[in-house]
Amino acid sequence: MDRLRIGFGTDVHRLETGRPLILGGVEIPSRAGAVGHSDADVLLHAVTDAIFGALALGDIGTHFPDDDDQWKGAESTLFLSEALGQMRGAGCHIANLDAVVSLESPRLGEHKEAIRASLCSKLDIGAERVNIKAKSAEGLGPVGEQMAVRAEVVLLLERD
Ligand code: MG
Repeated sequence: MDRLRIGFGTDVHRLETGRPLILGGVEIPSRAGAVGHSDADVLLHAVTDAIFGALALGDIGTHFPDDDDQWKGAESTLFLSEALGQMRGAGCHIANLDAVVSLESPRLGEHKEAIRASLCSKLDIGAERVNIKAKSAEGLGPVGEQMAVRAEVVLLLERD
């Protein structure tokens, strides 16, 4: 494995009234939550895809096909654990991770630190390696019209 490998992941989920909104393992009080095949944690899905990407191992769908009932309702942490296991098996760790979560409402500013702490715990890395940014979409597009939540993640893997 190279000394450094970059990975990028992005995910979007539709929002529906009355569903829980879970971001990075944190439930955010919200009128609407994400709809998805699993627990619809858009941020964990993007992190998982970024790790698979850095390892050149495809994406979540490669490892957990969404037409397989076995994974119906599966926790996002299961997907993440698989990616982390592959990463550790390749002798790598996360040097740093930068994420953008786009959501129109509620504003995520006051939840950023909780999301960051949860992500650090799930990834077993220090807070100095993780950054969470929250954006609104200024009313534009599916995120702006409160129809969707999006996460984008870039991370760097470093050889141990
Ligand atoms: Mg997803």
